[in-house]
Amino acid sequence: MANKLFTNVSIFNGTGKKPFAGEVLVQGNRIKKVVRGNNKIERQGNDVIDGYGSFLMPGLVNCHSHTTYLDTSTLAEVGDIPPEEATLQAAHNARVQLDNGMTAVVSAAAAKPRMDIVLRNEINSGRIPGPRMKACTPQLISTGGPWDARQMHMHHESFEITCDGPIEFRRATREMIREGVDIVKLAISGDNNAHPHAAEDMTTWSEDEIAAVMEVAQSRGVWACSHARGDDSIRLSIKYGIQIIHHATFPSKKTLDSLEKRKHKHYICPAFGAIYTALYEASDWGMTQEFIETAGFARELEVGCKTMKEMHKRGIKVMPYGDYGVAWNPHGTDNRDLEHFVNLVGFSPAETLMMATMFGGECFAFGGTPEIGQIKEGYLADLLMIDGDPLADITIMQDKDNFLMIMKDGEYHKAPPRRRRGQQRVAAE
Ligand SMILES: [Zn+2]
Repeated sequence: MANKLFTNVSIFNGTGKKPFAGEVLVQGNRIKKVVRGNNKIERQGNDVIDGYGSFLMPGLVNCHSHTTYLDTSTLAEVGDIPPEEATLQAAHNARVQLDNGMTAVVSAAAAKPRMDIVLRNEINSGRIPGPRMKACTPQLISTGGPWDARQMHMHHESFEITCDGPIEFRRATREMIREGVDIVKLAISGDNNAHPHAAEDMTTWSEDEIAAVMEVAQSRGVWACSHARGDDSIRLSIKYGIQIIHHATFPSKKTLDSLEKRKHKHYICPAFGAIYTALYEASDWGMTQEFIETAGFARELEVGCKTMKEMHKRGIKVMPYGDYGVAWNPHGTDNRDLEHFVNLVGFSPAETLMMATMFGGECFAFGGTPEIGQIKEGYLADLLMIDGDPLADITIMQDKDNFLMIMKDGEYHKAPPRRRRGQQRVAAE
């Protein structure tokens, strides 16, 4: 296979620094050379792709992905879908993620115990298209935790694994590790979009249950992530070394201080998309004004945005994406999260894209040396070529037609256009 040489591109390398006009050489599945300026790399023997001044950036990394959630109007409904249908639909979602530039995802819970695992394995085998993937357990919850949809008078499966006491949590974690997960999900706080008995400020696990899961996860070398909205659940996530904390909406000053001290150990994914759409766009799915007010979505979004701004100021790693895969916040719209980071939180487009690429790549490495998330010599070749400048208008990332080229692991998922008549442009110096 010939090396691929991208010329006449404006290179955003993932670090957040200003893009530069340059060239990138891909050999096999790795980035071999990155240079500033034109005509610096030998053309002979390489497949030369003229980018016509387009924006070249690393593939996007979504560290709060629910690839196997199926755009249902309630989460418990995911449990009602039989595994056969669910698996095929999840394979479709994986393709949709890659179509939208996500070349890697870290799952934040699967819809059924083995779904992430089989999806990851099929993608890795090359039989189906999809992002690189870290496979997660379903949400581990305690009885009466968020989205516990069981009923006393009849059997009803939901989308979670329900355990009580350290012995049960330990067994469930060991079982899922045996099946092949990369990461376990501890839903340790409630959520106002769930049952009234599991509100967001409640911690629904006891401490010995968290300790039991983390003891198993750490001894087997798998990572953990938590659903943690209230202060106590964030504090416990830090105390037990849960690497990815999802939401982290309401930390106290003391909790923020302790997170800042351990900032190199944690990644935070607020997942604003589903809250934003629940607040403004979900009336068709039964989100009444009354429910929105009871759930306090407006406050959650407002406080969440302030919290993320403060965390970023303190050098804590905050990342976009999360909770796409429900009816009012469906798969394929994930890149709205980039706009939320700019318009709601106030991050710059360059900061936002850095979080979605470099931070995401670091997180995806799970404590090892990162190999994705930057356009850097030696890194894996996950690259996007964008028509337009997302630093000038971040919303262009929401239209997948603006992705001129999507490369994962050195191979095209979407091949670049070879000639665009009348659109000859030169990358800005
Ligand atoms: Zn989630």
